[in-house]
Amino acid sequence: MLGYAEIEKLRRVCAPGPVVLSLYLAVPLDPVRIGGLAAEATELMANAAGLAGGSQGEERGAARVGHADREAVLDALAAHGRDWLGHTVAFFACRELGLFEALPLPCLLPDRAAVMSRPYIRPLLAAVQRCPDYRVAIADREHARVLSVRCGQVETMATQVDRGPRSSGFGGWYGLQAHRIQRRIIELGRHHYRDTAAILAQAAAGGHVPLVIGGHRDSIAGLLRALPPAAREAFAGSFHADPHTLTEAGVRELADPVIGDWVARRERELADEVVAGPPGRLAAVGLPACLAAVDRGAVDRLLVPDDGMIPGFACDRCGALSAVRGGCPGCGTAARPVPDLLEEMVQRTLDDGGQVTVVRDAPFSVAAKLRFPVTAEGSGR
Ligand SMILES: [Zn+2]
Repeated sequence: MLGYAEIEKLRRVCAPGPVVLSLYLAVPLDPVRIGGLAAEATELMANAAGLAGGSQGEERGAARVGHADREAVLDALAAHGRDWLGHTVAFFACRELGLFEALPLPCLLPDRAAVMSRPYIRPLLAAVQRCPDYRVAIADREHARVLSVRCGQVETMATQVDRGPRSSGFGGWYGLQAHRIQRRIIELGRHHYRDTAAILAQAAAGGHVPLVIGGHRDSIAGLLRALPPAAREAFAGSFHADPHTLTEAGVRELADPVIGDWVARRERELADEVVAGPPGRLAAVGLPACLAAVDRGAVDRLLVPDDGMIPGFACDRCGALSAVRGGCPGCGTAARPVPDLLEEMVQRTLDDGGQVTVVRDAPFSVAAKLRFPVTAEGSGR
């Protein structure tokens, strides 16, 4: 199961040279097309080795994909390809370190391969970010259900039933009495939303888990009004459905697109905030400014595009990153070529306790929200 814990485990893997293979491969939905995957994977792996150093003519740290690692990937594809239809699978292989992982991801991502000293994790972050765990509350006047969706699995966390006044005798009451019963039902409804809201508040405590509400229009509004501020902040959106006929599979089918829209909206909001926020905001936009910010440990949240790589250089002595060939801008020693500066910046930001958001159709090469102001001037990069 893919989650941040799995990513942290992979982040601890480190080889003395660029010998760790990372391959992201989309397995088509149509099983007939499985046959062509081995050739695709082989080509991606060959290109990755070239990209990681060989083509830049650097003697030091020339990257390679070991024969055993390539064969392990192809064997896994032949054995399990049919189990992964419609998913991108992430492979991490390094025989020297005893590493082999094949992780089917919850969504499709661009194909990519890299050979570095560590597993290439930017696409993994995108996958976890786009398919987060979430909660669903389904409510009408009498029933409520709270479900949790974790790693694509739906589980009912709580079910609650309020019967309201007995319906026997209901028909014989008129006038004021009937009015009172009506009021009683409405009050019960309010209590009931409050109870459901309390369950949700409890469930939301301890983490920012997005919440989707499903049901009839008035029930959604009623439950939303009853939510305490913290749970309301987690509200991602709603869908209309008849609560009585909703199955767990149906819940996911209706709630997944709501969560998908919410994730995309948050990406856009974060990008807008950094690029077009108020003057004087703590932000860096573009490669030189972000390299300087990462170098100084100033990044609170790094925003990276989900596609593309920016080749550059990293210094093993002082850790400085640079887009320019030549000596390290920090200490002057020879810097080692790296296939993707964005990945290096992601790793550095996470090491420093910052956060990373992968943005689709990003209006920048890279951007960041900062903890304190940093000027790129004089840093030479
Ligand atoms: Zn240096």
